[in-house]
Amino acid sequence: MENKVSFYNTLTRKVEQFIPYEDGKVRMYTCGPTVYHFAHIGNLRSYIMEDILEKTLRYVGYDVKRVMNITDVGHLSSDADTGEDKMLKGAKREHKSVMEIAKFYADAFFVDFAKLNIKMPDVVDPATNHIDDYIKVIDKLLETGYAYSAGDNIYFDTSKLKDYYVFSSQTEKELMVGVRDDVDEDSNKRNKGDFVLWFTKSKFDNQELKWQSPWGIGYPGWHIECSCISMKHLGEHLDIHCGGVDNIFPHHTNEIAQSEAYLGHKWCNYWFHVHHLNDKQGKMSKSKGEFLTVSLLEEKGYNPLAYRFFCLQSHYRKPLEFSYENLDNVTVAYEKLLKRVASLKDEGTKDEAAFNKYKEEFENAMSNDLNSSQAITVLYDVLKADISDSTKLALVESFDYVLSLSLLSLRKAKEDSKEDAELVAYVEEKIAQRKEAKKNKDFATADAIREELLSKGITIKDTREGTVWERA
Ligand code: AMP
Ligand code: ZN
Repeated sequence: MENKVSFYNTLTRKVEQFIPYEDGKVRMYTCGPTVYHFAHIGNLRSYIMEDILEKTLRYVGYDVKRVMNITDVGHLSSDADTGEDKMLKGAKREHKSVMEIAKFYADAFFVDFAKLNIKMPDVVDPATNHIDDYIKVIDKLLETGYAYSAGDNIYFDTSKLKDYYVFSSQTEKELMVGVRDDVDEDSNKRNKGDFVLWFTKSKFDNQELKWQSPWGIGYPGWHIECSCISMKHLGEHLDIHCGGVDNIFPHHTNEIAQSEAYLGHKWCNYWFHVHHLNDKQGKMSKSKGEFLTVSLLEEKGYNPLAYRFFCLQSHYRKPLEFSYENLDNVTVAYEKLLKRVASLKDEGTKDEAAFNKYKEEFENAMSNDLNSSQAITVLYDVLKADISDSTKLALVESFDYVLSLSLLSLRKAKEDSKEDAELVAYVEEKIAQRKEAKKNKDFATADAIREELLSKGITIKDTREGTVWERA
């Protein structure tokens, strides 16, 4: 099929036209949440923009299969494989088991997905489901010399690769500075960049969840889950891998290292990364203590979809600063937009030429490195255009497949309440006619009215207080 969509590929550092491995099909993988706490609206910015990418691809005709993991083991407090497992930290904080908090926060995460109109990935799979796959891959990496055992942990040997730092032209030293806080050197590593594939004995052996392995009882490192879950559901050739920019190093760098060493060929062609949502203190992060959730926004009276609108108005490759003042402005604009759509009458004939012209403009905006704010400008152009309301409505509905802002929701609510009011007036009129018929001993008419109402799903009951009715 014609390749329309282009977006920035972190691997080649260019905006590139997307060409999938298999014509018309897209295999897409998304790093899922670490479920030791609620997702903050920064995490959700990444998922909103990934949703936009998926829906854009579907909109232009691709058949997309999207897979997401749930990180419920192995993600340590520091990206340098040190510190406590985040899941264990969360479980201790709440005096619950790791599996209990994993379930609780995974469920909460998908409630946020629904509130933000983010489509569920086709496959969602927790890391703890695939221990056998990790063992199989690590075993082969040991066999082929890409992995080694030291201090009883199994490490990936980054010196075995020609180019480990695939994403960056920066030097190794510069990248290591980027590794987050509480970096505590692990003296078992042969090279600075090496990372843990499997933890067996180490200072982290107070881990709650452990499994038997050929190297003793232990648990997987964080990175191996994404390589294995992706390969399990999407095969050896992945088209697009997504995540926030903080995932570029070390997580995605390590995923590439181990996957390609295992497969013996290139694994994923396109890497899509969303920039961070920041607050005044910098990057929003779960470990910061205080952070913003969708529920908190709702408690403060905001519609979660106003936050989605806020995200869509800026480019995914730019950091975005959150402030209530900005969200207030966007909320006003969002409500106005819904009202504008609600005021459209379903009148006039659909103008096919105008429909196709604006649809193409919208597709071009989205296909041009996901220019969602330009796509929203096209939406406003449609609303202002000199075309029939029915053409406008058809376009709004079509664009909303990608934007997913429930643009027709207010209109629908109004129509429902109008329909409701009409139904109430009709039923009351019929009940009055029946009363009159009964007064005149015209029971045949009274029965016919009852039957007519019943055929419309309305049942009536005569009580001492008069006739009452309900929908069947
Ligand atoms: P986590 O639950 O920490 O594993 O993160 C889930 C996703 O959110 C990952 O793709 C991260 O890269 C992304 N992420 C984390 N913090 C932010 C942020 N402040 N803004 C945007 N995305 C983020
Ligand atoms: Zn991942």
